[in-house]
Amino acid sequence: MTVTATTARQWVYTFAEGDPTRRDLLGGKGAGLADMAQAGLPVPPGFTITTEACTEYGKQGHVVPDEVWQQALAALGAVEQARGRRFGDPARPLLLSVRSGAKFSMPGMMDTILDLGLTDVSVRGLAATGGERFAYDSYRRLIQMYGKVVLGVDASRFEHALEAAKARRGVHLDVELDADALRELTAEFKAIVREVTGSDFPQDPIGQLHGAIGAVFASWNTERANNYRRENHISNDLGTAVNVQAMVYGNMGEDCATGVAFTRDPATGEKRLMGEYLANAQGEDVVAGVRTPLPIEEMADDPLLAATYEEFQRIADQLERHYTDAQDLEFTVEHGKLYMLQTRTAKRTGAAAVRMAVEMANEGLIDRATAVRRVEPAQLDQLLHPTIDPAAKPTVLTTGLPASPGAASGQVVFDADEAVTRHDQGQDVLLVREETSPEDFHGMVAARGFVTARGGITSHAAVVARGMGKACVASAAGLVVDYDAQCFTVGDTVVRRDDWITIDGATGRVMLGKVPMTKPGLGGELDELLDWADAIRVLGVRANADTPHDATAAREFGAQGIGLCRTEHMFFEGDRIDAMRAMILADTLAERTAALDRILPLQRDDFAGIFRAMAGLPVTIRTLDPPLHEFLPATTEEEAALAQTLGIDPAVVAAKVEQLREANPMLGFRGCRLGISYPEITAMQARAIFEAACLVTREGLVVVPEIMIPLVSTLTELHLQREIVDRVASEVFAAAGVTVPYLVGTMIELPRAALIADEIATEAEFFSFGTNDLTQTTFGMSRDDAGRFLPNYVARGILPHDPFQTLDVAGVGKLVALGTDLGRRTRPDLHVGICGEHGGDPASIAFCARTGLDYVSASPYRVPIARLAAAHAQLDALDRAAGQGQHERDR
Ligand code: PEP
Ligand code: MG
Repeated sequence: MTVTATTARQWVYTFAEGDPTRRDLLGGKGAGLADMAQAGLPVPPGFTITTEACTEYGKQGHVVPDEVWQQALAALGAVEQARGRRFGDPARPLLLSVRSGAKFSMPGMMDTILDLGLTDVSVRGLAATGGERFAYDSYRRLIQMYGKVVLGVDASRFEHALEAAKARRGVHLDVELDADALRELTAEFKAIVREVTGSDFPQDPIGQLHGAIGAVFASWNTERANNYRRENHISNDLGTAVNVQAMVYGNMGEDCATGVAFTRDPATGEKRLMGEYLANAQGEDVVAGVRTPLPIEEMADDPLLAATYEEFQRIADQLERHYTDAQDLEFTVEHGKLYMLQTRTAKRTGAAAVRMAVEMANEGLIDRATAVRRVEPAQLDQLLHPTIDPAAKPTVLTTGLPASPGAASGQVVFDADEAVTRHDQGQDVLLVREETSPEDFHGMVAARGFVTARGGITSHAAVVARGMGKACVASAAGLVVDYDAQCFTVGDTVVRRDDWITIDGATGRVMLGKVPMTKPGLGGELDELLDWADAIRVLGVRANADTPHDATAAREFGAQGIGLCRTEHMFFEGDRIDAMRAMILADTLAERTAALDRILPLQRDDFAGIFRAMAGLPVTIRTLDPPLHEFLPATTEEEAALAQTLGIDPAVVAAKVEQLREANPMLGFRGCRLGISYPEITAMQARAIFEAACLVTREGLVVVPEIMIPLVSTLTELHLQREIVDRVASEVFAAAGVTVPYLVGTMIELPRAALIADEIATEAEFFSFGTNDLTQTTFGMSRDDAGRFLPNYVARGILPHDPFQTLDVAGVGKLVALGTDLGRRTRPDLHVGICGEHGGDPASIAFCARTGLDYVSASPYRVPIARLAAAHAQLDALDRAAGQGQHERDR
C-alpha cells in the first residue's frame, strides 16, 4: 500500500506571506495590501481569505468550510500578536474590519463590516482608552452594519432611528451626537435587531467573525453584484476574497482623519495628487457622502495633520512608481500615525485614461505599447461624447462638483426603478438623488446622467458615473430634494419630475431645459495615442460614410478610406426623395429612365464630394440596396401629397404602394435583386460614380473607386451586375478621355454567398462582409423585429450578448472565416473587409484581426475606437506568438 502525503490547501494568507501578483487568488485589495505590507509601508496587520475559499463556500452550500475557518483563526492569532491586543479582550479589544475584494474592483457592490468584535462588555474597554463617544459610535456602527449585512435587518430601520435621534437632539450631522445620544442609539439599534431577528445582537466576537466572513462571501452573489458584473463583463465564477484586518481609527479626535486620494486626477488625468479627507471620521463617511469632505491638500494647513500629509504624498508617489499606474488610495490617520488601507489601479474617465497613458509614456514610466493597452477602446466613446455648445446661453440653475465629464439632457426622475421604466419606454432621463447608493445601480445604467445633492468626487454616484462614462454633477449647491413632492428646489426655483434639465459633468453646471450640444473632435493627447496605435496595428480601418460631410469627418478621425457608402441614404433627404419615388412608381422604362436622369446629377455631385474628401484613399460605393417600400409614403396624407407633386392620381399611388408591400421586406425585393430587375438603376449609379471619378481625376486628385454589389447569393447575379458596371465604365472613360482604375466586388451578407465564396471570388475583386444581414440570415432573426426578444435572451444568458452588436464568433464568425478562406483560395490577394455595425465593436474587431481580414469599416465616430481596438488585437497576437515561442522553447 502506498501512503500519499496530503497537504492541506492554503485558503488564508497573512499580508506578509500573500503573493502580490496573485490578484486572482487574493483579489485586488488583498494583493495591494500584501504588496504594501511587504514593501514596509504602514499597513494595519491582517490576512486574506482567498477567492478559492469563496468558490468552496458556494460548493459547500453557503457555509464557511471548516478548513478555511481554522486557517482564519490561526491567522487571527498572528494579527493579535502584531497589534498587541486580543480579539474579544474585554479591556483592550482588538477590533477587525472584514471587507470584500474581488480580482476586478466592484466599488460598493459587496459588503464590508467594521468594528467587528465589540460587545456590551468590550465597548466599555474601548471607552476607557478611546472615550465614551468614540466607543459607542463604533458600537452602533457595528450593530448597524452587521445587522444589515449578516442578520438581514432592513437598513432603513437603523437610518430612521438615527435620523430620529438627530432630530431629538436638534442636530444635523452624526458627529454632533454626543456620547449619551450614541449610547441611547446603541440600545435602540439592539432593540431593532431583537425585534426583527428574535435574538439579541451576538455577544460572541468569534461568532461575529464567522458570520461576517460568510456574509461577505454571500455578497458576491447578490442581485446587484450580478447586475454589475453583467454590465462590466466580469465572470461570475471568480468569487471574492475576504480581507480581515485590524481596525485603525480616524474618528478618535482631531488628530485623526480618514481619506481617499488618487495619484492623478481621475476625471482629467492631470498629474497631481488629489483627493478628499475628513478629520475625525471613519472611511465610510467619506465614501457615503454623509459629510462633504475637504480637498486633500488642505491637510497641509492643519497643524495636527501636516506631517502625516507629507508622508502620505511620499507613499503615494512610491506606489504609483511601483505599479507604474495611477493609484486609488485609502488611508486613515490615528492620533497622527498614517495607515494605508488600500491601493488599487484608479478607475478613470476616457479622457483621463488617454492623458495618463500618453503622459506616463512621455515620462518614461511605461512604453508606448503599454500606453496603447492602458486605454480601453470603448473608453474613447466618452471622449467623443457631446459637450455643451459654446455658443449656447443656458440658464444655469446651480453648480456642483464636476464629478464625471460629458453633457446630458433628460427629464428629471428621482427613483432608480422609474429611471429603468422610463428608459425602457425610450425616454431620456436624468436621475436626481440626495445621494446614490449601490441599490440605485440599475437606475444609473438606465439614466443618461446623475445629479446628487451631497457627496464628493469619490462618492458612489461619481465613481459609478466615471466607470460608465456618464455625466455626473455631485453636491450640487443649494439643491434640496423632496422625494415626497417629487421635485427639487434651488432657492426659489422648483424643478418637478418630468421637467427637462441639462447637466455638464465637466464644469458641474446644472441647467434648465434642453441645452444644445456639440460633438468634440480629437485632441492632442488622443491624436498622439492613436498615432502610436496606428504604428502597431496591421488591420486597416475605414469608415461607413454616405455624404461628403461624413467622409470629411471620417478622414479627420483617421479613416483610411470608405468601406461602405450606402447610396440610398443620399435619397432620404429633402426633395430628392421625390425623384426617387418617381423612379419607383414609374410604369415604363421610359418613365423610369426619365426619373433616373433627374437622380444622376445629384448622385454624381455627392460622389464627387466624397472622392474629393477621400482623395488618394479607396471609396467603396454600394449600389442600391434597401427594400423599395422604404421610400414610399407611409400614410394616406403622404400618398396624397406625393400624388400632387408627381401630378398623378392618388389612387394610382395607393395601388402601387399596395403592390410593393412585402410580408418580409428584409428578405424581399432588395439588394442586387433590384439592379437585376431594373438594370437601368445600376447603370445610372455606375455612370454617376464614373463621371464623378473622371471629374475629380481631372482636378488632379487620385480617385480609387470600388463598386460593391449587395446581397449577392449566386455568381450569376454578380456577373450580370458586373457586366453593367464594366460597360458603363468603358462608355464614360471613352467619352471623358480619362481612365480611372476601379474594382468591382461584392458584399458577403448571405450564408449562401459565404458557402460558395470560392465561386463568387472568380468575379469579385474584393469582399466586404455585411455582418448585419449575415447575422440576420444566419440566425434567421429579423433585424427589424429582434428587439422584441433579444434583450430577454441576453438577460437569461441564452445568448452571451446581442449578436447584432458583437459578432457571434461561433456561428456568423465561422461563415466569415470560411468565406475569407474560400475566397482567397480562388484569389490569393483578395482584399477582405467588414462593414456591418460590428466593424466598430472592439470584440468583433479582435475577431476580424485574428481571422486575417484586411480592414474593418465603422461609422466615423467609431473610427478612433476601431484604430485602438485594432492595435490591441495586434498586441494580443504578438503576446500569443511570444507565448507560443516560449512554449516551443520550454519543450
Ligand atoms: C450589412 O448588412 O452588414 C450592411 C453593412 O448593410 P446594411 O446594414 O446596409 O444592410
Ligand atoms: Mg446589408
